[in-house]
Amino acid sequence: VDVIQETESKIPAEYERYRAEVREFIRTNAPAHNNNRGPDTPEDVQALMGFLRKLVAAGYQLTPPYGITGDGPVDPIERRIVSEELADARVPVFVGNPVGVYAISVFGSAEQKLRYIPPFLALEHVWTQLFSEPDAGSDLASMRTTAVRDGDEYVVNGSKIWSSFAHQANFGFLPARTDPSAPKHAGISVFILDMTTPGITIAPLRQMTRDQEFNQVFLDNVRIPASARIGAEGEGWPICRAALTAERLSVGGVARRPPMSPLPPLMELAHRKDRTGKAPADDADIRQDIARLHARAHALQCLRYMMMTRQNRQGLGPADPSVAKVLSTELRLEAFAFGVSLFGPEALYEDGELTDRTGAHWWQDNFLFSRALIIGGGTNEIQRNLIAERGLGLPRDVTPR
Ligand SMILES: Cc1cc2nc3c(=O)[nH]c(=O)nc-3n(C[C@H](O)[C@H](O)[C@H](O)COP(=O)(O)OP(=O)(O)OC[C@H]3O[C@@H](n4cnc5c(N)ncnc54)[C@H](O)[C@@H]3O)c2cc1C
Repeated sequence: VDVIQETESKIPAEYERYRAEVREFIRTNAPAHNNNRGPDTPEDVQALMGFLRKLVAAGYQLTPPYGITGDGPVDPIERRIVSEELADARVPVFVGNPVGVYAISVFGSAEQKLRYIPPFLALEHVWTQLFSEPDAGSDLASMRTTAVRDGDEYVVNGSKIWSSFAHQANFGFLPARTDPSAPKHAGISVFILDMTTPGITIAPLRQMTRDQEFNQVFLDNVRIPASARIGAEGEGWPICRAALTAERLSVGGVARRPPMSPLPPLMELAHRKDRTGKAPADDADIRQDIARLHARAHALQCLRYMMMTRQNRQGLGPADPSVAKVLSTELRLEAFAFGVSLFGPEALYEDGELTDRTGAHWWQDNFLFSRALIIGGGTNEIQRNLIAERGLGLPRDVTPR
Protein backbone atom coordinates (compact mmCIF):
# COMPACT_ATOMS: atom_id res chain seq x y z
CA VAL A 1 0.00 0.00 0.00
CA ASP A 2 1.31 3.42 -0.89
CA VAL A 3 0.77 5.21 2.41
CA ILE A 4 0.99 8.72 0.97
CA GLN A 5 -1.82 7.86 -1.38
CA GLU A 6 -3.85 6.22 1.37
CA THR A 7 -3.28 8.87 4.02
CA GLU A 8 -3.43 12.03 1.94
CA SER A 9 -6.16 10.89 -0.41
CA LYS A 10 -9.51 12.61 -0.18
CA ILE A 11 -12.19 10.85 1.83
CA PRO A 12 -15.22 10.12 -0.42
CA ALA A 13 -18.12 12.53 0.11
CA GLU A 14 -20.48 9.75 1.25
CA TYR A 15 -18.40 9.51 4.47
CA GLU A 16 -19.20 13.10 5.48
CA ARG A 17 -22.36 12.02 7.29
CA TYR A 18 -20.29 9.36 9.12
CA ARG A 19 -17.77 12.00 10.19
CA ALA A 20 -20.52 14.26 11.53
CA GLU A 21 -21.96 11.33 13.48
CA VAL A 22 -18.55 10.44 15.03
CA ARG A 23 -17.90 14.08 15.93
CA GLU A 24 -21.27 14.36 17.65
CA PHE A 25 -20.71 11.10 19.53
CA ILE A 26 -17.36 12.36 20.82
CA ARG A 27 -18.78 15.79 21.68
CA THR A 28 -21.61 14.38 23.75
CA ASN A 29 -19.80 11.44 25.40
CA ALA A 30 -16.06 12.17 25.82
CA PRO A 31 -14.97 12.98 29.37
CA ALA A 32 -13.29 16.30 30.12
CA HIS A 33 -9.55 15.98 30.64
CA ASN A 34 -7.33 17.88 33.00
CA ASN A 35 -4.20 16.97 31.08
CA ASN A 36 -3.73 17.27 27.35
CA ARG A 37 -1.59 14.12 27.12
CA GLY A 38 -4.00 11.78 28.80
CA PRO A 39 -5.69 10.95 32.05
CA ASP A 40 -3.80 11.31 35.30
CA THR A 41 -5.91 10.01 38.16
CA PRO A 42 -7.48 6.50 38.39
CA GLU A 43 -10.92 8.16 38.04
CA ASP A 44 -9.82 9.89 34.81
CA VAL A 45 -8.46 6.61 33.46
CA GLN A 46 -11.74 4.86 34.21
CA ALA A 47 -13.73 7.71 32.64
CA LEU A 48 -11.61 7.58 29.47
CA MET A 49 -11.67 3.78 29.21
CA GLY A 50 -15.44 3.82 29.79
CA PHE A 51 -15.90 6.33 26.99
CA LEU A 52 -13.65 4.40 24.59
CA ARG A 53 -15.53 1.17 25.36
CA LYS A 54 -18.80 2.96 24.63
CA LEU A 55 -17.36 4.25 21.35
CA VAL A 56 -16.29 0.74 20.29
CA ALA A 57 -19.64 -0.73 21.43
CA ALA A 58 -21.41 1.85 19.24
CA GLY A 59 -19.53 0.36 16.26
CA TYR A 60 -16.80 2.98 15.77
CA GLN A 61 -13.41 1.46 15.04
CA LEU A 62 -10.25 2.55 16.84
CA THR A 63 -6.78 2.20 15.33
CA PRO A 64 -4.79 0.16 17.87
CA PRO A 65 -1.17 1.14 18.57
CA TYR A 66 1.82 -0.84 17.27
CA GLY A 67 -0.31 -2.30 14.44
CA ILE A 68 -1.94 -4.76 16.86
CA THR A 69 -4.91 -6.20 15.01
CA GLY A 70 -8.08 -8.05 15.95
CA ASP A 71 -10.25 -10.41 13.92
CA GLY A 72 -13.20 -8.32 12.79
CA PRO A 73 -13.60 -6.60 9.40
CA VAL A 74 -12.05 -3.14 9.19
CA ASP A 75 -13.07 -0.16 7.06
CA PRO A 76 -9.82 1.85 6.80
CA ILE A 77 -11.67 5.04 5.90
CA GLU A 78 -13.99 4.79 8.91
CA ARG A 79 -10.98 4.05 11.10
CA ARG A 80 -9.18 7.07 9.74
CA ILE A 81 -12.17 9.33 10.38
CA VAL A 82 -12.49 8.08 13.98
CA SER A 83 -8.76 8.68 14.62
CA GLU A 84 -8.90 12.15 13.09
CA GLU A 85 -11.95 13.15 15.09
CA LEU A 86 -10.47 11.81 18.36
CA ALA A 87 -7.20 13.63 17.67
CA ASP A 88 -9.04 16.88 16.89
CA ALA A 89 -11.01 16.55 20.12
CA ARG A 90 -7.70 15.72 21.86
CA VAL A 91 -9.06 12.47 23.27
CA PRO A 92 -6.23 9.95 23.81
CA VAL A 93 -6.73 6.48 22.40
CA PHE A 94 -5.61 3.72 24.78
CA VAL A 95 -3.92 4.30 28.11
CA GLY A 96 -0.49 3.04 29.21
CA ASN A 97 2.11 1.36 27.04
CA PRO A 98 0.79 -1.76 25.32
CA VAL A 99 4.10 -2.75 23.72
CA GLY A 100 3.74 -6.06 25.63
CA VAL A 101 0.56 -6.79 23.67
CA TYR A 102 2.53 -6.11 20.50
CA ALA A 103 5.15 -8.65 21.67
CA ILE A 104 2.40 -11.21 22.34
CA SER A 105 0.93 -10.58 18.88
CA VAL A 106 4.30 -11.40 17.27
CA PHE A 107 5.98 -13.88 19.65
CA GLY A 108 3.19 -15.14 21.95
CA SER A 109 1.57 -18.58 21.96
CA ALA A 110 -1.91 -19.08 20.45
CA GLU A 111 -3.31 -19.26 23.99
CA GLN A 112 -1.62 -16.00 25.02
CA LYS A 113 -2.91 -14.22 21.90
CA LEU A 114 -6.46 -15.36 22.62
CA ARG A 115 -6.22 -14.44 26.28
CA TYR A 116 -4.65 -10.97 26.07
CA ILE A 117 -5.30 -9.38 22.66
CA PRO A 118 -9.15 -9.31 22.52
CA PRO A 119 -9.57 -7.76 26.01
CA PHE A 120 -6.88 -5.21 25.18
CA LEU A 121 -8.69 -4.24 21.98
CA ALA A 122 -11.94 -4.10 23.95
CA LEU A 123 -10.31 -1.47 26.24
CA GLU A 124 -10.47 -3.71 29.30
CA HIS A 125 -6.76 -3.76 30.17
CA VAL A 126 -4.04 -1.18 30.75
CA TRP A 127 -0.43 -2.34 30.17
CA THR A 128 2.91 -1.10 31.44
CA GLN A 129 6.44 -1.73 30.18
CA LEU A 130 8.83 -2.92 32.93
CA PHE A 131 12.20 -2.65 31.15
CA SER A 132 14.39 0.01 32.79
CA GLU A 133 16.09 -0.63 36.12
CA PRO A 134 17.92 1.78 38.42
CA ASP A 135 21.24 0.58 36.95
CA ALA A 136 20.08 -0.55 33.51
CA GLY A 137 18.57 2.04 31.17
CA SER A 138 20.53 2.63 27.97
CA ASP A 139 22.41 -0.57 28.65
CA LEU A 140 19.19 -2.51 29.13
CA ALA A 141 20.76 -5.95 28.73
CA SER A 142 22.69 -5.41 31.97
CA MET A 143 19.41 -5.78 33.90
CA ARG A 144 19.67 -7.54 37.25
CA THR A 145 16.10 -8.55 38.04
CA THR A 146 16.08 -12.34 38.27
CA ALA A 147 13.44 -14.98 37.55
CA VAL A 148 14.28 -18.36 39.09
CA ARG A 149 12.32 -21.40 37.96
CA ASP A 150 10.46 -23.22 40.77
CA GLY A 151 8.24 -26.02 39.41
CA ASP A 152 5.53 -24.50 37.20
CA GLU A 153 6.42 -20.99 38.31
CA TYR A 154 9.20 -18.42 38.26
CA VAL A 155 10.11 -16.45 41.37
CA VAL A 156 11.03 -12.88 40.47
CA ASN A 157 13.14 -10.48 42.53
CA GLY A 158 14.42 -7.03 41.60
CA SER A 159 13.31 -3.52 40.84
CA LYS A 160 12.13 -1.66 37.74
CA ILE A 161 11.99 2.11 37.32
CA TRP A 162 10.38 4.84 35.19
CA SER A 163 7.49 2.43 34.58
CA SER A 164 4.83 4.63 32.95
CA PHE A 165 1.29 3.88 34.08
CA ALA A 166 2.41 0.94 36.31
CA HIS A 167 0.09 2.34 38.99
CA GLN A 168 -2.87 2.09 36.61
CA ALA A 169 -1.88 -1.13 34.86
CA ASN A 170 -3.48 -4.56 34.90
CA PHE A 171 -0.48 -6.22 33.22
CA GLY A 172 3.24 -5.60 32.87
CA PHE A 173 5.66 -6.64 30.12
CA LEU A 174 8.64 -7.85 32.13
CA PRO A 175 12.07 -9.05 31.03
CA ALA A 176 14.19 -10.73 33.73
CA ARG A 177 17.40 -12.70 33.92
CA THR A 178 16.71 -16.45 33.99
CA ASP A 179 20.34 -17.53 33.56
CA PRO A 180 22.79 -15.26 35.42
CA SER A 181 25.75 -17.36 34.17
CA ALA A 182 24.93 -16.82 30.44
CA PRO A 183 26.40 -13.89 28.43
CA LYS A 184 24.28 -10.82 29.19
CA HIS A 185 22.08 -10.89 26.09
CA ALA A 186 21.52 -14.65 26.27
CA GLY A 187 20.18 -15.17 29.80
CA ILE A 188 17.04 -13.01 29.52
CA SER A 189 13.41 -14.22 29.32
CA VAL A 190 10.24 -12.13 29.02
CA PHE A 191 7.05 -12.49 31.03
CA ILE A 192 3.51 -11.23 31.29
CA LEU A 193 3.10 -9.96 34.84
CA ASP A 194 -0.36 -9.74 36.41
CA MET A 195 0.04 -6.52 38.41
CA THR A 196 -2.23 -7.83 41.21
CA THR A 197 0.28 -10.61 42.09
CA PRO A 198 1.46 -10.51 45.73
CA GLY A 199 4.99 -9.10 46.24
CA ILE A 200 4.64 -6.09 43.89
CA THR A 201 5.12 -2.64 45.45
CA ILE A 202 4.58 0.44 43.30
CA ALA A 203 6.17 3.72 44.40
CA PRO A 204 5.11 6.85 42.50
CA LEU A 205 7.72 9.17 40.90
CA ARG A 206 6.71 12.73 40.12
CA GLN A 207 7.87 14.35 36.88
CA MET A 208 8.87 17.96 36.40
CA THR A 209 5.48 18.54 34.74
CA ARG A 210 4.07 17.64 38.20
CA ASP A 211 2.24 14.68 36.70
CA GLN A 212 2.72 11.36 38.33
CA GLU A 213 2.89 9.20 35.26
CA PHE A 214 5.72 6.85 36.11
CA ASN A 215 6.84 4.75 39.07
CA GLN A 216 9.45 2.54 40.63
CA VAL A 217 8.23 -1.06 40.88
CA PHE A 218 9.70 -3.41 43.49
CA LEU A 219 9.38 -7.14 42.88
CA ASP A 220 9.81 -9.21 46.00
CA ASN A 221 9.42 -13.00 45.55
CA VAL A 222 6.75 -12.42 42.90
CA ARG A 223 5.51 -15.77 41.53
CA ILE A 224 4.71 -15.85 37.80
CA PRO A 225 3.29 -19.00 36.15
CA ALA A 226 5.62 -20.47 33.51
CA SER A 227 2.70 -20.24 31.05
CA ALA A 228 3.09 -16.42 31.25
CA ARG A 229 6.56 -16.52 29.66
CA ILE A 230 6.58 -15.16 26.10
CA GLY A 231 8.76 -17.32 23.83
CA ALA A 232 11.39 -19.78 25.02
CA GLU A 233 13.46 -19.45 28.19
CA GLY A 234 16.63 -17.44 27.56
CA GLU A 235 15.33 -16.09 24.23
CA GLY A 236 13.87 -12.86 25.51
CA TRP A 237 16.44 -10.41 24.15
CA PRO A 238 15.26 -10.49 20.49
CA ILE A 239 11.71 -9.93 21.80
CA CYS A 240 12.90 -6.89 23.80
CA ARG A 241 14.67 -5.54 20.72
CA ALA A 242 11.61 -5.96 18.51
CA ALA A 243 9.50 -4.23 21.15
CA LEU A 244 11.98 -1.33 21.39
CA THR A 245 11.94 -0.92 17.60
CA ALA A 246 8.13 -0.82 17.61
CA GLU A 247 8.19 1.74 20.41
CA ARG A 248 10.71 3.92 18.57
CA LEU A 249 8.57 3.90 15.44
CA SER A 250 5.58 4.86 17.50
CA VAL A 251 7.41 7.77 19.23
CA GLY A 252 8.74 8.78 15.80
CA GLY A 253 5.20 8.99 14.42
CA VAL A 254 5.67 6.21 11.88
CA ALA A 255 2.23 4.87 12.65
CA ARG A 256 -1.18 5.33 11.12
CA ARG A 257 -1.76 8.49 13.06
CA PRO A 258 1.32 10.66 13.65
CA PRO A 259 1.48 12.41 17.03
CA MET A 260 -0.09 15.82 17.32
CA SER A 261 2.02 18.35 15.46
CA PRO A 262 2.88 21.44 17.50
CA LEU A 263 2.57 23.54 14.34
CA PRO A 264 -1.22 24.18 14.26
CA PRO A 265 -1.23 25.36 17.92
CA LEU A 266 1.89 27.43 17.17
CA MET A 267 -0.04 29.16 14.39
CA GLU A 268 -2.94 29.86 16.77
CA LEU A 269 -0.47 31.29 19.23
CA ALA A 270 1.25 33.42 16.60
CA HIS A 271 -2.06 35.08 15.77
CA ARG A 272 -3.04 35.70 19.41
CA LYS A 273 -3.21 39.46 19.97
CA ASP A 274 -1.88 41.01 23.18
CA ARG A 275 -3.54 43.92 25.00
CA THR A 276 -2.04 46.42 22.59
CA GLY A 277 -3.58 44.55 19.63
CA LYS A 278 -0.23 43.17 18.40
CA ALA A 279 0.29 39.50 17.56
CA PRO A 280 3.65 37.63 17.40
CA ALA A 281 2.99 36.99 13.69
CA ASP A 282 3.36 40.75 13.08
CA ASP A 283 7.10 40.31 13.63
CA ALA A 284 9.04 39.32 10.48
CA ASP A 285 11.70 37.36 12.42
CA ILE A 286 9.03 35.32 14.17
CA ARG A 287 7.37 34.60 10.83
CA GLN A 288 10.71 33.37 9.48
CA ASP A 289 11.23 31.08 12.48
CA ILE A 290 7.74 29.63 12.14
CA ALA A 291 8.29 29.07 8.42
CA ARG A 292 11.51 27.19 9.18
CA LEU A 293 9.76 24.97 11.73
CA HIS A 294 6.90 24.42 9.30
CA ALA A 295 9.28 23.35 6.52
CA ARG A 296 10.94 20.85 8.86
CA ALA A 297 7.60 19.52 10.07
CA HIS A 298 6.49 19.07 6.47
CA ALA A 299 9.72 17.26 5.53
CA LEU A 300 9.36 15.04 8.60
CA GLN A 301 5.80 14.16 7.67
CA CYS A 302 6.94 13.19 4.15
CA LEU A 303 9.70 11.08 5.67
CA ARG A 304 7.19 9.30 7.91
CA TYR A 305 4.96 8.53 4.94
CA MET A 306 7.98 7.27 3.02
CA MET A 307 8.89 4.99 5.93
CA MET A 308 5.33 3.71 6.28
CA THR A 309 5.28 2.90 2.56
CA ARG A 310 8.69 1.24 2.79
CA GLN A 311 7.48 -0.76 5.80
CA ASN A 312 4.55 -2.07 3.75
CA ARG A 313 6.68 -2.85 0.69
CA GLN A 314 10.24 -4.03 1.32
CA GLY A 315 10.60 -3.42 5.07
CA LEU A 316 12.30 -0.61 6.97
CA GLY A 317 16.01 0.14 6.90
CA PRO A 318 17.95 -0.70 10.09
CA ALA A 319 18.33 2.96 11.12
CA ASP A 320 14.83 4.14 10.11
CA PRO A 321 13.16 3.80 13.55
CA SER A 322 15.99 5.75 15.21
CA VAL A 323 15.99 8.47 12.52
CA ALA A 324 12.24 8.96 12.94
CA LYS A 325 12.52 9.08 16.72
CA VAL A 326 15.37 11.63 16.77
CA LEU A 327 13.85 13.98 14.15
CA SER A 328 10.36 13.79 15.61
CA THR A 329 11.26 14.39 19.24
CA GLU A 330 13.80 17.14 18.55
CA LEU A 331 11.48 19.08 16.26
CA ARG A 332 8.76 18.78 18.86
CA LEU A 333 11.04 20.09 21.60
CA GLU A 334 12.22 23.02 19.46
CA ALA A 335 8.69 23.96 18.42
CA PHE A 336 7.45 23.94 22.03
CA ALA A 337 10.54 25.85 23.20
CA PHE A 338 9.82 28.44 20.50
CA GLY A 339 6.16 28.68 21.57
CA VAL A 340 7.22 29.16 25.19
CA SER A 341 9.62 31.93 24.16
CA LEU A 342 6.72 33.86 22.60
CA PHE A 343 5.20 34.26 26.07
CA GLY A 344 8.24 35.96 27.61
CA PRO A 345 8.06 36.02 31.44
CA GLU A 346 4.41 34.93 31.23
CA ALA A 347 5.77 31.47 30.27
CA LEU A 348 6.33 30.86 33.99
CA TYR A 349 2.62 31.25 34.68
CA GLU A 350 1.06 27.95 35.69
CA ASP A 351 -2.52 28.63 36.59
CA GLY A 352 -4.09 28.57 33.14
CA GLU A 353 -6.24 25.76 31.85
CA LEU A 354 -4.28 22.85 30.37
CA THR A 355 -6.90 22.59 27.66
CA ASP A 356 -6.21 26.14 26.39
CA ARG A 357 -3.77 25.78 23.50
CA THR A 358 -3.07 29.48 23.47
CA GLY A 359 -2.32 29.59 27.20
CA ALA A 360 1.14 29.76 28.82
CA HIS A 361 0.43 26.73 31.01
CA TRP A 362 -0.30 24.44 28.03
CA TRP A 363 2.90 25.50 26.29
CA GLN A 364 5.01 25.22 29.41
CA ASP A 365 3.62 21.75 30.18
CA ASN A 366 4.23 20.51 26.63
CA PHE A 367 7.71 22.02 26.53
CA LEU A 368 8.66 20.20 29.74
CA PHE A 369 7.13 16.94 28.55
CA SER A 370 8.93 17.21 25.18
CA ARG A 371 12.19 16.73 27.08
CA ALA A 372 10.89 13.39 28.35
CA LEU A 373 10.45 12.15 24.78
CA ILE A 374 14.14 12.81 24.07
CA ILE A 375 14.90 10.25 26.82
CA GLY A 376 11.96 7.79 26.80
CA GLY A 377 12.00 4.92 24.31
CA GLY A 378 15.83 5.01 24.36
CA THR A 379 17.71 8.33 24.56
CA ASN A 380 18.55 10.25 21.40
CA GLU A 381 22.28 9.73 22.09
CA ILE A 382 21.65 6.00 21.94
CA GLN A 383 19.56 6.45 18.75
CA ARG A 384 22.48 8.33 17.19
CA ASN A 385 24.77 5.42 18.09
CA LEU A 386 22.31 3.05 16.42
CA ILE A 387 22.11 5.23 13.30
CA ALA A 388 25.92 5.25 13.12
CA GLU A 389 26.32 1.52 13.69
CA ARG A 390 23.28 -0.09 12.07
CA GLY A 391 22.57 2.51 9.40
CA LEU A 392 25.98 3.78 8.37
CA GLY A 393 28.15 0.78 9.30
CA LEU A 394 30.46 2.89 11.47
CA PRO A 395 32.46 1.17 14.23
CA ARG A 396 30.55 0.15 17.34
CA ASP A 397 30.32 2.45 20.35
CA VAL A 398 32.92 1.55 22.96
CA THR A 399 30.25 1.05 25.65
CA PRO A 400 29.09 -2.58 25.47
CA ARG A 401 25.33 -2.86 24.83
C1 LIG B 1 8.74 10.01 30.26
C2 LIG B 1 9.49 8.72 30.34
C3 LIG B 1 8.77 7.54 30.37
C4 LIG B 1 9.45 6.33 30.49
N1 LIG B 1 8.69 5.20 30.54
C5 LIG B 1 9.31 4.02 30.70
C6 LIG B 1 8.53 2.82 30.81
O1 LIG B 1 7.29 2.85 30.76
N2 LIG B 1 9.18 1.66 30.99
C7 LIG B 1 10.54 1.58 31.05
O2 LIG B 1 11.05 0.49 31.19
N3 LIG B 1 11.31 2.70 30.97
C8 LIG B 1 10.72 3.91 30.79
N4 LIG B 1 11.49 5.06 30.70
C9 LIG B 1 12.92 4.97 30.91
C10 LIG B 1 13.78 5.20 29.69
O3 LIG B 1 13.70 4.12 28.79
C11 LIG B 1 15.22 5.41 30.20
O4 LIG B 1 15.23 6.60 30.97
C12 LIG B 1 16.22 5.53 29.07
O5 LIG B 1 16.37 4.31 28.40
C13 LIG B 1 17.61 6.00 29.59
O6 LIG B 1 18.05 5.22 30.63
P1 LIG B 1 18.57 5.88 31.99
O7 LIG B 1 17.51 6.82 32.47
O8 LIG B 1 18.98 4.79 32.90
O9 LIG B 1 19.80 6.77 31.59
P2 LIG B 1 21.30 6.26 31.37
O10 LIG B 1 21.30 5.03 30.55
O11 LIG B 1 21.98 6.21 32.71
O12 LIG B 1 21.91 7.44 30.51
C14 LIG B 1 22.34 8.67 31.09
C15 LIG B 1 22.87 9.56 29.98
O13 LIG B 1 24.02 8.94 29.38
C16 LIG B 1 23.83 8.81 27.98
N5 LIG B 1 24.43 7.54 27.51
C17 LIG B 1 24.33 6.34 28.10
N6 LIG B 1 24.99 5.40 27.38
C18 LIG B 1 25.51 6.05 26.30
C19 LIG B 1 26.30 5.64 25.19
N7 LIG B 1 26.64 4.37 25.03
N8 LIG B 1 26.63 6.56 24.27
C20 LIG B 1 26.27 7.87 24.42
N9 LIG B 1 25.53 8.32 25.46
C21 LIG B 1 25.15 7.42 26.39
C22 LIG B 1 22.31 8.77 27.78
O14 LIG B 1 21.95 9.17 26.48
C23 LIG B 1 21.86 9.75 28.85
O15 LIG B 1 21.96 11.07 28.37
C24 LIG B 1 10.85 6.30 30.58
C25 LIG B 1 11.57 7.49 30.53
C26 LIG B 1 10.92 8.69 30.43
C27 LIG B 1 11.71 9.95 30.40
